Amino acid sequence: MSAPHPAPPMALLAELTHRCPLKCFYCSNPLELVRASGELRTEDWLRVLDEAAAIGILQVHFSGGEPMARKDLVTLVRHAAKLQLYSNLITSGVLLTDEAMAELLEAGIDHIQLSFQDSEQQGAEFIGGYKGAQAKKMDAARRIKNAGLPLTTNFVIHRHNADRVGAMIELGAELGSSRIEIAHTQYYGWGLLNRDGLLPSREQLDRTSEVVEEARARLKGVLTIDYVIPDYYAARPKACMGGWGNRFMNISPTGKALPCHAAETIPDLALPSVRDHSIGDIWAHSEAFQKFRGTEWMPEPCQSCDRREIDWGGCRCQALALTGRADVADPVCEKSADHALLAGFIEQADINAPLKARG
Ligand code: SF4
Ligand code: SF4
Repeated sequence: MSAPHPAPPMALLAELTHRCPLKCFYCSNPLELVRASGELRTEDWLRVLDEAAAIGILQVHFSGGEPMARKDLVTLVRHAAKLQLYSNLITSGVLLTDEAMAELLEAGIDHIQLSFQDSEQQGAEFIGGYKGAQAKKMDAARRIKNAGLPLTTNFVIHRHNADRVGAMIELGAELGSSRIEIAHTQYYGWGLLNRDGLLPSREQLDRTSEVVEEARARLKGVLTIDYVIPDYYAARPKACMGGWGNRFMNISPTGKALPCHAAETIPDLALPSVRDHSIGDIWAHSEAFQKFRGTEWMPEPCQSCDRREIDWGGCRCQALALTGRADVADPVCEKSADHALLAGFIEQADINAPLKARG
């Protein structure tokens, strides 16, 4: 029996491209990056936006790679605005010139999320591999604020920069962020490949948590700080994407519809393409979106657990990456028979472990 499909997804994550001027060691893009020639055409994306609005999706997040590497970004933003979709641009900011900002504003962009690799230039260039990126990002933040748009700044934390979390929060506040995301690296894609060199120690995690809690109290009423800890130190998993096929649909640069951005790693999952099907049809009827939707698919210990409709058994892609099976409880959960694996990965972490930059 197929799982009943829920209300339409709240948001569409439009991964426009894998191209990016940066080469972050923790990038969540897949190891096999799609070339420009394999990307969806402008007319495909325009149709996808039409279909999104038609089924009641409210928000579209333009991401990548670097979505500003697409020449048609302004066209897509303008179309989203025409359809009354709330549009968010997730960008590294290095291409956000005065001219680009003016065009995006005129097209109707609603919000910009700007990523930083560190509070300091040296650390930022070590991670992103792009000389001069930090200055460009600071300029981008000023342009966003001058345009009167809400700004979220995002900082990804790992073993090499965890000790500068306080300075990152100060930077985000100075730049006028209404929201700061302090997100420990999630170990997918390039992050998983580089896990040994990126995973922080327990002491680093505890210190970052203290700094974030102190800043939250101090900046209450001024800005919001979202804090994401590394799964590997958690006792319970996160509800990946708010549950499989429950709240979000991710479209890859080639047009595959994904219930989770790493779902392409799951073998034998027939991922539908927006080139062949409407997103309404994919959401309601595709095998891929139904496979882990709801609770029927769950084995024990999830099936009888009172958190099964809170975390939905955690992340299928993480279960696969760590155990070789996508249909078991996320090993992050203390109740999982595979939970002990995580202690071994934490033990292996080493600041001197070699890191491989994304291509
Ligand atoms: S994580 Fe870094 S390399 Fe990956 S898309 Fe974002 S800015 Fe580019
Ligand atoms: S047993 Fe399954 S549903 Fe329960 S907390 Fe763990 S992962 Fe979540």
